[in-house]
Amino acid sequence: ASPLVVAVSTALSAKQGLLIRNRVNFENARQIDTVVFDKTGTLTKGEFGVTDVIPNDTNEDDLLKLAASVEYKSEHPIAKGIVNSAEEKNLTLKDVQDFNSNTGEGIEGKIDGQHIKIVSPKYIEKNNIDIDRDTFNHLSEQGKTVVFVLSNEKLLGMVALADMIKDEAKEAVQLLKDNGIKSVMLTGDHQKVADWVAKEIGIEEVHAEVLPDHKAEHIKEIQKKQAKVAMTGDGINDAPALATADLGIAIGAGTDVAMETADVVLVQSNPKDVVSLVELSRKTYRKMV
Ligand code: ADP
Ligand code: MG
Repeated sequence: ASPLVVAVSTALSAKQGLLIRNRVNFENARQIDTVVFDKTGTLTKGEFGVTDVIPNDTNEDDLLKLAASVEYKSEHPIAKGIVNSAEEKNLTLKDVQDFNSNTGEGIEGKIDGQHIKIVSPKYIEKNNIDIDRDTFNHLSEQGKTVVFVLSNEKLLGMVALADMIKDEAKEAVQLLKDNGIKSVMLTGDHQKVADWVAKEIGIEEVHAEVLPDHKAEHIKEIQKKQAKVAMTGDGINDAPALATADLGIAIGAGTDVAMETADVVLVQSNPKDVVSLVELSRKTYRKMV
């Protein structure tokens, strides 16, 4: 690009809240035919609120107290939701030893000699732990994320949380479609929750329950279908996928790791800015060799 064109596009991009970190890859944006979106924090606000506390043996407050005590040490959006809920109820948290976080699966710690784990539905399946399927299915079908609280591998109960879809997510997907660009969802969350959110937004292709290590593999698979692929994400777990995609786009409110890996940062954290990005790249590099 000529210096003038670059200068003009830099000014334009700044105005539109696009921080271009890698101009060579930004050129790719005009040829993008698929945009892959992470769910939590990218299409949704990533601000979870607890909607249901369902104890097995104990009562609601005790279940929430145990869960919040361990989640206090985690930085996941699910953790923040559970801790906030315990604080609203003025529950006093307990001391936790041996805290450990297993990315994409859950967390664990010891409280009064009990080994407490808070885990994903996938963990429950893998370990054949008996749960109330009907309640779980019902909550998931409403788009709620359900986590399970275990003590010494025995189910203490489940906690459901709801996130909010960003207002502009649906419009972003529609505008991309109008531009001939397909949207795909790639998330670590449960299939049913992902399906619910995807349906609300109008995304047809969904890859759910994807472990952090595997997000980049999915991008490679999509690239094999002769596609120029953009990945949009906010989390540490999205960084390898951002690096693998033809264009990595980070959400401004996301983690530093995502922003440092991405080619472009959406300063306003608005998924609709992906469309502005493609349009700007098309305008800037059109008819140029
Ligand atoms: P996402 O792609 O939606 O950001 P993650 O890979 O971070 O998802 O997490 C995948 C799943 O692992 C979550 O949906 C949840 O079931 C479980 N999980 C992760 N962190 C926690 C946590 N702090 N507490 C409970 N469950 C967690
Ligand atoms: Mg995310």
